[in-house]
Amino acid sequence: MSKRVVTVIPGDGIGPECINAAVAIINAAGCNIEWEERHAGASVFKQGIPSGVPADTIESIKKTRVVLKGPLETPVGFGEKSANVTLRKLFETYANIRPVREYPGVTTPYSGRGIDLVVVRENVEDLYAGIEHMQTPGVAQCLKLISRKGCEKIVRTAFEFARAEGRKSVACATKANIMKLTEGLLKKTFEEIAPEYPDIESWHVIIDNAAHQLVKKPEQYDVIVTTNMNGDIISDLTSGLVGGLGFAPTANLGNEVAIFEAVHGSAPKYAGKDVINPTSVILSGVMMLRHIGEFEAATKIEDAVMVTIEEGKAATGDVVGYDKGAKTSVYTKTIIENLGRKPSKSQSRKYQAIKLPQISSDPVFVRPESRRVLGCDIFCEWPKGPEPLGQSLDKIAEGTPFRLKMISNRGTKVYPAGEALIDCVDHWRCRFVLRDEKADASAEQILDLLTRVSAVHQWMHVEKLLEINGEPGHTKAQGED
Ligand code: NAP
Repeated sequence: MSKRVVTVIPGDGIGPECINAAVAIINAAGCNIEWEERHAGASVFKQGIPSGVPADTIESIKKTRVVLKGPLETPVGFGEKSANVTLRKLFETYANIRPVREYPGVTTPYSGRGIDLVVVRENVEDLYAGIEHMQTPGVAQCLKLISRKGCEKIVRTAFEFARAEGRKSVACATKANIMKLTEGLLKKTFEEIAPEYPDIESWHVIIDNAAHQLVKKPEQYDVIVTTNMNGDIISDLTSGLVGGLGFAPTANLGNEVAIFEAVHGSAPKYAGKDVINPTSVILSGVMMLRHIGEFEAATKIEDAVMVTIEEGKAATGDVVGYDKGAKTSVYTKTIIENLGRKPSKSQSRKYQAIKLPQISSDPVFVRPESRRVLGCDIFCEWPKGPEPLGQSLDKIAEGTPFRLKMISNRGTKVYPAGEALIDCVDHWRCRFVLRDEKADASAEQILDLLTRVSAVHQWMHVEKLLEINGEPGHTKAQGED
Protein backbone atom coordinates (compact mmCIF):
# COMPACT_ATOMS: atom_id res chain seq x y z
CA MET A 1 0.00 0.00 0.00
CA SER A 2 1.47 3.41 -0.93
CA LYS A 3 2.30 5.72 1.94
CA ARG A 4 0.28 8.85 2.76
CA VAL A 5 2.62 11.83 2.36
CA VAL A 6 2.35 14.49 5.10
CA THR A 7 4.27 17.78 5.20
CA VAL A 8 6.08 18.19 8.51
CA ILE A 9 7.40 21.58 9.66
CA PRO A 10 9.63 21.32 12.78
CA GLY A 11 9.23 25.03 13.59
CA ASP A 12 11.15 27.19 16.06
CA GLY A 13 12.19 27.05 19.71
CA ILE A 14 10.72 23.91 21.29
CA GLY A 15 9.07 23.02 17.95
CA PRO A 16 11.62 20.43 16.76
CA GLU A 17 11.53 18.58 20.13
CA CYS A 18 7.72 18.40 20.03
CA ILE A 19 7.63 17.33 16.38
CA ASN A 20 10.34 14.67 16.87
CA ALA A 21 8.29 13.20 19.72
CA ALA A 22 5.05 13.17 17.69
CA VAL A 23 6.69 11.70 14.57
CA ALA A 24 8.46 8.98 16.58
CA ILE A 25 5.19 7.94 18.24
CA ILE A 26 3.17 8.00 15.01
CA ASN A 27 5.84 5.91 13.29
CA ALA A 28 5.98 3.48 16.23
CA ALA A 29 2.19 3.07 16.06
CA GLY A 30 2.68 1.60 12.58
CA CYS A 31 1.05 4.40 10.57
CA ASN A 32 1.64 4.33 6.86
CA ILE A 33 3.01 7.87 6.59
CA GLU A 34 5.88 9.36 4.61
CA TRP A 35 7.04 12.66 6.12
CA GLU A 36 8.07 15.46 3.76
CA GLU A 37 10.08 17.91 5.86
CA ARG A 38 9.75 21.58 5.00
CA HIS A 39 10.46 24.83 6.85
CA ALA A 40 8.77 28.07 7.87
CA GLY A 41 9.27 30.74 10.52
CA ALA A 42 12.44 32.22 12.05
CA SER A 43 15.02 30.39 9.89
CA VAL A 44 13.12 31.43 6.77
CA PHE A 45 12.82 35.09 7.86
CA LYS A 46 16.61 35.00 8.35
CA GLN A 47 17.04 33.94 4.71
CA GLY A 48 15.31 37.20 3.76
CA ILE A 49 11.94 35.66 2.79
CA PRO A 50 9.52 38.21 4.30
CA SER A 51 6.47 35.89 4.43
CA GLY A 52 8.39 33.31 6.50
CA VAL A 53 6.94 30.62 4.23
CA PRO A 54 9.17 29.61 1.27
CA ALA A 55 7.89 28.41 -2.11
CA ASP A 56 8.93 24.76 -1.58
CA THR A 57 6.86 24.63 1.63
CA ILE A 58 3.84 26.01 -0.20
CA GLU A 59 4.39 23.50 -3.05
CA SER A 60 4.62 20.61 -0.59
CA ILE A 61 1.40 21.62 1.21
CA LYS A 62 -0.45 22.06 -2.08
CA LYS A 63 0.51 18.49 -2.92
CA THR A 64 0.08 16.72 0.46
CA ARG A 65 -2.86 18.82 1.78
CA VAL A 66 -1.97 17.76 5.33
CA VAL A 67 0.59 19.39 7.63
CA LEU A 68 1.95 18.61 11.08
CA LYS A 69 3.80 21.65 12.32
CA GLY A 70 5.71 22.93 15.30
CA PRO A 71 5.21 26.46 16.60
CA LEU A 72 6.72 29.35 14.67
CA GLU A 73 8.24 32.41 16.27
CA THR A 74 6.81 35.83 15.38
CA PRO A 75 8.45 39.13 16.34
CA VAL A 76 6.13 40.92 18.81
CA GLY A 77 5.10 44.51 18.00
CA PHE A 78 7.43 44.94 15.03
CA GLY A 79 8.83 43.16 11.97
CA GLU A 80 7.28 40.72 9.53
CA LYS A 81 3.80 39.26 9.77
CA SER A 82 3.20 35.93 11.53
CA ALA A 83 4.17 32.95 9.35
CA ASN A 84 1.51 30.95 11.24
CA VAL A 85 -1.24 33.30 10.24
CA THR A 86 0.17 33.39 6.70
CA LEU A 87 -0.03 29.57 6.47
CA ARG A 88 -3.59 29.53 7.84
CA LYS A 89 -4.70 32.23 5.43
CA LEU A 90 -2.84 31.00 2.33
CA PHE A 91 -4.68 27.70 2.54
CA GLU A 92 -8.00 29.09 3.82
CA THR A 93 -7.98 26.91 6.92
CA TYR A 94 -11.00 28.75 8.25
CA ALA A 95 -11.76 26.56 11.27
CA ASN A 96 -9.50 26.24 14.26
CA ILE A 97 -10.57 23.34 16.47
CA ARG A 98 -9.13 23.45 19.99
CA PRO A 99 -10.21 20.60 22.28
CA VAL A 100 -9.27 20.30 25.95
CA ARG A 101 -10.16 17.57 28.43
CA GLU A 102 -9.30 16.60 31.94
CA TYR A 103 -6.32 14.26 32.18
CA PRO A 104 -6.40 11.95 35.20
CA GLY A 105 -2.86 12.28 36.53
CA VAL A 106 -2.63 16.02 35.90
CA THR A 107 -3.84 17.68 39.07
CA THR A 108 -5.46 21.09 38.60
CA PRO A 109 -8.00 23.09 40.67
CA TYR A 110 -10.60 21.57 38.30
CA SER A 111 -9.65 17.90 38.69
CA GLY A 112 -12.66 15.63 39.01
CA ARG A 113 -15.06 17.96 37.22
CA GLY A 114 -14.83 16.18 33.87
CA ILE A 115 -13.88 19.11 31.65
CA ASP A 116 -14.16 18.00 28.03
CA LEU A 117 -14.83 20.94 25.72
CA VAL A 118 -13.83 22.34 22.36
CA VAL A 119 -13.31 25.90 21.18
CA VAL A 120 -14.13 26.26 17.47
CA ARG A 121 -12.43 29.48 16.48
CA GLU A 122 -12.89 31.31 13.19
CA ASN A 123 -9.38 31.34 11.80
CA VAL A 124 -8.92 33.75 8.90
CA GLU A 125 -11.05 36.86 9.48
CA ASP A 126 -11.62 39.41 12.26
CA LEU A 127 -8.81 41.63 13.53
CA TYR A 128 -6.37 38.89 12.54
CA ALA A 129 -6.87 39.77 8.89
CA GLY A 130 -4.12 42.14 10.04
CA ILE A 131 -5.28 45.16 8.01
CA GLU A 132 -3.74 48.03 9.95
CA HIS A 133 -3.13 51.67 9.08
CA MET A 134 -1.75 54.62 10.96
CA GLN A 135 -4.56 57.17 10.71
CA THR A 136 -2.54 60.09 12.04
CA PRO A 137 0.99 59.94 13.46
CA GLY A 138 -0.59 59.24 16.85
CA VAL A 139 -3.64 57.08 16.03
CA ALA A 140 -3.55 53.48 14.75
CA GLN A 141 -6.42 51.48 13.28
CA CYS A 142 -7.03 47.75 12.69
CA LEU A 143 -9.96 46.66 10.53
CA LYS A 144 -12.23 44.02 12.00
CA LEU A 145 -13.60 42.24 8.95
CA ILE A 146 -16.30 39.63 9.46
CA SER A 147 -18.18 38.11 6.52
CA ARG A 148 -21.47 36.27 6.39
CA LYS A 149 -19.69 33.57 4.39
CA GLY A 150 -16.99 33.21 7.07
CA CYS A 151 -19.63 33.06 9.81
CA GLU A 152 -21.64 30.44 7.96
CA LYS A 153 -18.56 28.27 7.44
CA ILE A 154 -17.49 28.38 11.09
CA VAL A 155 -20.98 27.92 12.51
CA ARG A 156 -21.70 24.92 10.27
CA THR A 157 -18.27 23.45 11.11
CA ALA A 158 -19.01 23.79 14.83
CA PHE A 159 -22.34 21.95 14.51
CA GLU A 160 -20.90 19.29 12.19
CA PHE A 161 -17.98 18.81 14.58
CA ALA A 162 -20.39 18.46 17.50
CA ARG A 163 -22.31 15.79 15.59
CA ALA A 164 -19.15 13.92 14.53
CA GLU A 165 -18.02 13.69 18.16
CA GLY A 166 -21.47 12.97 19.62
CA ARG A 167 -21.47 16.23 21.58
CA LYS A 168 -24.66 17.70 23.01
CA SER A 169 -24.40 21.50 22.74
CA VAL A 170 -22.86 24.42 20.87
CA ALA A 171 -22.60 27.85 22.52
CA CYS A 172 -21.87 30.89 20.38
CA ALA A 173 -19.68 33.44 22.22
CA THR A 174 -19.52 36.98 20.84
CA LYS A 175 -19.23 40.62 21.80
CA ALA A 176 -22.39 41.43 19.80
CA ASN A 177 -23.66 43.70 22.56
CA ILE A 178 -20.94 46.21 21.64
CA MET A 179 -19.90 45.34 18.06
CA LYS A 180 -23.40 44.87 16.73
CA LEU A 181 -22.52 44.51 13.05
CA THR A 182 -19.28 42.49 13.16
CA GLU A 183 -19.64 40.25 16.21
CA GLY A 184 -23.40 40.56 15.66
CA LEU A 185 -23.06 38.88 12.26
CA LEU A 186 -21.75 35.71 13.90
CA LYS A 187 -24.59 35.74 16.45
CA LYS A 188 -27.22 36.31 13.74
CA THR A 189 -25.78 33.61 11.47
CA PHE A 190 -25.59 31.19 14.41
CA GLU A 191 -29.22 31.81 15.32
CA GLU A 192 -30.30 31.28 11.70
CA ILE A 193 -28.37 28.02 11.29
CA ALA A 194 -28.86 26.43 14.75
CA PRO A 195 -32.46 25.23 13.99
CA GLU A 196 -30.99 22.99 11.24
CA TYR A 197 -29.36 21.00 14.07
CA PRO A 198 -32.31 20.27 16.40
CA ASP A 199 -30.41 17.38 18.01
CA ILE A 200 -27.88 19.85 19.44
CA GLU A 201 -28.69 22.37 22.14
CA SER A 202 -27.57 25.91 21.27
CA TRP A 203 -27.36 29.29 22.96
CA HIS A 204 -25.55 32.60 22.77
CA VAL A 205 -23.27 33.95 25.49
CA ILE A 206 -21.39 37.25 25.65
CA ILE A 207 -17.69 36.47 25.40
CA ASP A 208 -16.62 38.15 28.64
CA ASN A 209 -19.25 36.18 30.53
CA ALA A 210 -18.07 33.06 28.68
CA ALA A 211 -14.58 33.69 30.09
CA HIS A 212 -16.08 34.10 33.57
CA GLN A 213 -18.26 30.99 33.22
CA LEU A 214 -15.30 28.99 31.93
CA VAL A 215 -13.38 29.69 35.10
CA LYS A 216 -16.40 29.20 37.36
CA LYS A 217 -18.22 26.26 35.79
CA PRO A 218 -16.35 24.99 32.72
CA GLU A 219 -18.19 21.67 32.66
CA GLN A 220 -21.33 23.44 31.35
CA TYR A 221 -19.63 23.83 27.94
CA ASP A 222 -19.28 21.24 25.21
CA VAL A 223 -18.51 23.19 21.99
CA ILE A 224 -17.97 26.96 21.88
CA VAL A 225 -17.94 28.72 18.50
CA THR A 226 -16.46 32.20 18.37
CA THR A 227 -14.62 34.83 16.35
CA ASN A 228 -10.87 34.73 15.75
CA MET A 229 -9.46 36.91 18.52
CA ASN A 230 -12.00 35.82 21.15
CA GLY A 231 -11.18 32.21 20.29
CA ASP A 232 -7.45 32.80 20.49
CA ILE A 233 -7.79 34.17 24.01
CA ILE A 234 -10.37 31.81 25.48
CA SER A 235 -8.61 28.74 24.08
CA ASP A 236 -5.47 29.64 26.03
CA LEU A 237 -7.76 30.00 29.05
CA THR A 238 -9.32 26.57 28.44
CA SER A 239 -5.82 25.06 28.09
CA GLY A 240 -5.04 26.47 31.53
CA LEU A 241 -8.06 24.64 32.99
CA VAL A 242 -6.64 21.20 32.18
CA GLY A 243 -2.98 21.69 33.02
CA GLY A 244 -1.61 24.27 30.61
CA LEU A 245 -0.49 24.81 27.06
CA GLY A 246 1.45 21.56 27.08
CA PHE A 247 -1.88 19.71 26.76
CA ALA A 248 -3.70 21.70 24.08
CA PRO A 249 -3.79 20.43 20.47
CA THR A 250 -5.22 22.21 17.45
CA ALA A 251 -6.53 21.43 13.99
CA ASN A 252 -6.71 24.22 11.40
CA LEU A 253 -9.27 22.87 8.94
CA GLY A 254 -10.09 24.10 5.46
CA ASN A 255 -11.85 22.45 2.53
CA GLU A 256 -8.52 21.87 0.77
CA VAL A 257 -5.82 21.76 3.45
CA ALA A 258 -5.58 20.88 7.15
CA ILE A 259 -2.75 22.00 9.44
CA PHE A 260 -2.22 20.36 12.84
CA GLU A 261 -0.20 22.09 15.55
CA ALA A 262 -0.09 22.89 19.26
CA VAL A 263 -1.95 25.87 20.72
CA HIS A 264 1.32 26.92 22.33
CA GLY A 265 4.19 28.88 20.83
CA SER A 266 7.92 28.29 20.55
CA ALA A 267 8.57 28.83 24.33
CA PRO A 268 12.17 29.88 23.55
CA LYS A 269 13.40 29.65 27.15
CA TYR A 270 12.93 25.86 27.07
CA ALA A 271 14.31 25.29 23.54
CA GLY A 272 16.82 22.45 23.21
CA LYS A 273 16.64 21.53 26.93
CA ASP A 274 14.65 18.30 26.49
CA VAL A 275 12.26 19.34 29.26
CA ILE A 276 9.02 20.48 27.64
CA ASN A 277 5.75 18.64 27.41
CA PRO A 278 5.21 17.47 23.80
CA THR A 279 1.61 16.26 24.44
CA SER A 280 -0.02 19.14 22.54
CA VAL A 281 1.80 18.28 19.32
CA ILE A 282 1.35 14.52 19.89
CA LEU A 283 -2.42 15.03 20.31
CA SER A 284 -2.43 17.32 17.26
CA GLY A 285 -0.90 14.32 15.46
CA VAL A 286 -3.79 12.21 16.79
CA MET A 287 -6.26 14.73 15.32
CA MET A 288 -4.32 14.56 12.05
CA LEU A 289 -4.56 10.76 11.96
CA ARG A 290 -8.35 10.96 12.41
CA HIS A 291 -8.49 13.57 9.63
CA ILE A 292 -6.76 11.18 7.21
CA GLY A 293 -8.97 8.28 8.30
CA GLU A 294 -6.45 6.46 10.55
CA PHE A 295 -8.95 6.16 13.40
CA GLU A 296 -7.48 2.99 14.91
CA ALA A 297 -3.92 4.34 15.11
CA ALA A 298 -5.22 7.64 16.48
CA THR A 299 -7.04 5.92 19.34
CA LYS A 300 -4.04 3.65 20.01
CA ILE A 301 -1.78 6.71 20.43
CA GLU A 302 -4.35 8.66 22.44
CA ASP A 303 -4.75 5.67 24.78
CA ALA A 304 -0.95 5.37 25.21
CA VAL A 305 -0.74 9.09 26.05
CA MET A 306 -3.54 8.68 28.61
CA VAL A 307 -1.91 5.62 30.20
CA THR A 308 1.39 7.53 30.47
CA ILE A 309 -0.25 10.57 32.02
CA GLU A 310 -2.42 8.48 34.38
CA GLU A 311 0.53 6.46 35.68
CA GLY A 312 2.58 9.63 36.08
CA LYS A 313 5.93 7.80 35.95
CA ALA A 314 7.26 10.04 33.22
CA ALA A 315 5.42 13.29 34.00
CA THR A 316 7.10 16.34 32.47
CA GLY A 317 8.28 19.44 34.34
CA ASP A 318 5.17 21.54 33.63
CA VAL A 319 3.14 18.92 35.59
CA VAL A 320 5.44 18.05 38.51
CA GLY A 321 7.99 20.88 38.54
CA TYR A 322 11.05 21.25 36.33
CA ASP A 323 13.41 20.08 39.11
CA LYS A 324 11.82 16.62 39.13
CA GLY A 325 10.12 16.32 35.71
CA ALA A 326 10.98 13.64 33.16
CA LYS A 327 12.91 14.55 30.02
CA THR A 328 10.82 15.05 26.87
CA SER A 329 12.67 12.11 25.31
CA VAL A 330 11.88 9.81 28.27
CA TYR A 331 8.20 10.81 28.21
CA THR A 332 8.12 10.05 24.46
CA LYS A 333 9.80 6.65 24.94
CA THR A 334 7.29 5.79 27.69
CA ILE A 335 4.35 6.61 25.41
CA ILE A 336 5.85 4.35 22.74
CA GLU A 337 6.23 1.53 25.30
CA ASN A 338 2.58 2.05 26.30
CA LEU A 339 1.22 1.69 22.74
CA GLY A 340 -1.42 -1.05 22.84
CA ARG A 341 -2.44 -0.42 26.48
CA LYS A 342 -5.81 1.04 27.51
CA PRO A 343 -6.14 3.74 30.16
CA SER A 344 -8.20 2.84 33.23
CA LYS A 345 -9.59 6.29 34.06
CA SER A 346 -10.35 7.87 30.68
CA GLN A 347 -11.90 6.82 27.42
CA SER A 348 -11.63 7.88 23.80
CA ARG A 349 -14.75 9.21 22.12
CA LYS A 350 -16.35 7.38 19.22
CA TYR A 351 -14.95 9.69 16.57
CA GLN A 352 -16.27 10.00 13.03
CA ALA A 353 -15.03 12.06 10.10
CA ILE A 354 -16.22 15.71 10.20
CA LYS A 355 -18.40 16.79 7.29
CA LEU A 356 -16.92 20.19 6.45
CA PRO A 357 -19.46 22.61 4.96
CA GLN A 358 -19.38 22.99 1.17
CA ILE A 359 -20.24 26.63 0.66
CA SER A 360 -20.36 28.56 -2.63
CA SER A 361 -17.00 30.04 -3.65
CA ASP A 362 -18.80 32.99 -5.27
CA PRO A 363 -17.29 36.14 -3.70
CA VAL A 364 -20.75 37.74 -3.76
CA PHE A 365 -22.27 35.67 -0.98
CA VAL A 366 -25.12 37.99 0.00
CA ARG A 367 -27.37 39.67 -2.58
CA PRO A 368 -29.64 42.20 -0.88
CA GLU A 369 -33.08 43.13 -2.17
CA SER A 370 -32.29 46.81 -1.76
CA ARG A 371 -29.40 49.08 -0.83
CA ARG A 372 -29.03 52.83 -0.55
CA VAL A 373 -26.28 55.27 0.41
CA LEU A 374 -27.52 57.66 3.10
CA GLY A 375 -24.35 59.72 3.42
CA CYS A 376 -20.74 59.23 4.41
CA ASP A 377 -18.28 59.44 7.29
CA ILE A 378 -15.18 61.43 6.37
CA PHE A 379 -12.32 60.81 8.81
CA CYS A 380 -10.15 63.92 9.23
CA GLU A 381 -6.94 64.79 11.04
CA TRP A 382 -7.42 68.03 12.98
CA PRO A 383 -5.10 69.49 15.61
CA LYS A 384 -7.62 71.58 17.63
CA GLY A 385 -11.00 71.04 19.35
CA PRO A 386 -14.33 70.01 17.77
CA GLU A 387 -16.06 73.42 17.61
CA PRO A 388 -13.90 75.10 14.92
CA LEU A 389 -13.84 71.85 12.89
CA GLY A 390 -17.64 71.53 13.10
CA GLN A 391 -18.22 75.15 12.11
CA SER A 392 -15.84 74.82 9.17
CA LEU A 393 -17.52 71.60 7.94
CA ASP A 394 -21.03 73.08 8.40
CA LYS A 395 -19.95 75.83 6.05
CA ILE A 396 -18.37 73.43 3.55
CA ALA A 397 -21.60 71.41 3.38
CA GLU A 398 -23.69 74.47 2.50
CA GLY A 399 -25.05 74.20 -1.04
CA THR A 400 -24.37 70.41 -1.23
CA PRO A 401 -26.95 67.60 -0.86
CA PHE A 402 -25.39 66.82 2.54
CA ARG A 403 -25.49 68.28 6.03
CA LEU A 404 -22.98 67.62 8.80
CA LYS A 405 -24.91 65.45 11.27
CA MET A 406 -22.24 65.11 13.91
CA ILE A 407 -18.54 64.67 14.64
CA SER A 408 -17.25 61.95 16.94
CA ASN A 409 -13.87 61.39 18.54
CA ARG A 410 -12.96 57.72 19.15
CA GLY A 411 -16.64 56.85 18.79
CA THR A 412 -18.22 59.50 21.05
CA LYS A 413 -20.19 62.47 19.69
CA VAL A 414 -18.41 65.77 20.35
CA TYR A 415 -20.17 68.09 17.86
CA PRO A 416 -22.72 69.58 18.10
CA ALA A 417 -21.50 69.84 21.68
CA GLY A 418 -22.66 66.96 23.87
CA GLU A 419 -22.46 66.28 27.58
CA ALA A 420 -19.39 64.10 27.30
CA LEU A 421 -16.08 65.02 28.89
CA ILE A 422 -13.79 63.65 26.22
CA ASP A 423 -10.02 63.64 26.07
CA CYS A 424 -9.87 64.13 22.30
CA VAL A 425 -7.18 62.97 19.87
CA ASP A 426 -6.46 64.38 16.41
CA HIS A 427 -8.69 61.78 14.60
CA TRP A 428 -12.26 62.90 13.90
CA ARG A 429 -15.16 61.09 12.28
CA CYS A 430 -17.28 63.67 10.46
CA ARG A 431 -20.71 62.24 9.59
CA PHE A 432 -22.52 63.78 6.61
CA VAL A 433 -26.06 62.67 5.78
CA LEU A 434 -28.32 63.52 2.85
CA ARG A 435 -30.66 66.44 3.47
CA ASP A 436 -33.31 64.49 1.53
CA GLU A 437 -33.67 61.43 3.75
CA LYS A 438 -35.37 59.38 1.02
CA ALA A 439 -32.61 59.93 -1.59
CA ASP A 440 -29.66 57.69 -2.54
CA ALA A 441 -26.30 59.47 -2.59
CA SER A 442 -24.30 58.98 -5.77
CA ALA A 443 -20.55 58.42 -5.92
CA GLU A 444 -20.21 61.79 -7.71
CA GLN A 445 -22.00 63.61 -4.88
CA ILE A 446 -19.70 62.02 -2.29
CA LEU A 447 -16.61 62.78 -4.38
CA ASP A 448 -17.72 66.41 -4.75
CA LEU A 449 -18.16 66.69 -0.97
CA LEU A 450 -14.77 65.08 -0.40
CA THR A 451 -13.12 67.52 -2.83
CA ARG A 452 -14.63 70.44 -0.90
CA VAL A 453 -13.50 69.02 2.46
CA SER A 454 -10.08 68.22 1.02
CA ALA A 455 -9.55 71.86 -0.02
CA VAL A 456 -9.58 72.85 3.67
CA HIS A 457 -8.90 69.76 5.79
CA GLN A 458 -6.68 66.72 5.85
CA TRP A 459 -8.73 63.48 5.55
CA MET A 460 -7.50 59.88 5.76
CA HIS A 461 -10.49 57.77 4.77
CA VAL A 462 -14.17 57.77 3.84
CA GLU A 463 -16.92 55.28 4.67
CA LYS A 464 -20.27 55.20 2.89
CA LEU A 465 -23.30 55.03 5.19
CA LEU A 466 -25.32 52.17 3.74
CA GLU A 467 -28.87 51.02 4.25
CA ILE A 468 -29.28 47.35 3.31
CA ASN A 469 -32.77 45.84 2.98
CA GLY A 470 -34.12 48.88 4.83
CA GLU A 471 -31.76 48.32 7.82
CA PRO A 472 -28.93 50.71 8.71
CA GLY A 473 -25.56 49.29 7.67
CA HIS A 474 -23.62 51.40 10.15
CA THR A 475 -23.74 52.03 13.89
CA LYS A 476 -24.33 55.29 15.73
CA ALA A 477 -21.72 57.13 17.75
CA GLN A 478 -22.11 57.15 21.54
CA GLY A 479 -24.45 60.06 22.17
CA GLU A 480 -25.68 60.31 18.54
CA ASP A 481 -29.47 60.68 18.05
P1 NAP B 1 4.41 30.16 24.37
O1 NAP B 1 5.55 29.86 23.49
O2 NAP B 1 3.17 29.36 24.15
O3 NAP B 1 4.89 29.97 25.89
C1 NAP B 1 4.19 30.49 26.98
C2 NAP B 1 4.39 29.62 28.20
O4 NAP B 1 3.55 28.47 28.09
C3 NAP B 1 5.77 29.04 28.41
O5 NAP B 1 6.65 29.98 28.97
C4 NAP B 1 5.44 27.88 29.32
O6 NAP B 1 4.99 28.33 30.60
C5 NAP B 1 4.19 27.34 28.67
N1 NAP B 1 4.41 26.34 27.61
C6 NAP B 1 4.20 26.52 26.28
N2 NAP B 1 4.41 25.37 25.65
C7 NAP B 1 4.76 24.46 26.56
C8 NAP B 1 5.09 23.08 26.49
N3 NAP B 1 5.08 22.40 25.35
N4 NAP B 1 5.42 22.45 27.64
C9 NAP B 1 5.39 23.10 28.80
N5 NAP B 1 5.07 24.40 28.94
C10 NAP B 1 4.77 25.07 27.83
O7 NAP B 1 3.97 31.69 24.26
P2 NAP B 1 4.84 33.02 24.09
O8 NAP B 1 6.04 32.94 24.98
O9 NAP B 1 3.86 34.09 24.25
O10 NAP B 1 5.31 33.01 22.58
C11 NAP B 1 6.62 32.63 22.14
C12 NAP B 1 6.65 32.68 20.61
O11 NAP B 1 5.76 31.71 20.05
C13 NAP B 1 6.25 34.04 20.02
O12 NAP B 1 7.14 34.33 18.97
C14 NAP B 1 4.86 33.80 19.48
O13 NAP B 1 4.54 34.62 18.40
C15 NAP B 1 4.95 32.34 19.05
N6 NAP B 1 3.65 31.64 18.99
C16 NAP B 1 3.48 30.77 17.98
C17 NAP B 1 2.32 30.02 17.90
C18 NAP B 1 2.16 29.04 16.77
O14 NAP B 1 3.13 28.72 16.11
N7 NAP B 1 0.96 28.53 16.51
C19 NAP B 1 1.32 30.17 18.89
C20 NAP B 1 1.54 31.06 19.95
C21 NAP B 1 2.72 31.80 19.99
P3 NAP B 1 5.88 28.53 31.91
O15 NAP B 1 6.74 29.75 31.63
O16 NAP B 1 4.84 28.79 32.97
O17 NAP B 1 6.68 27.33 32.15
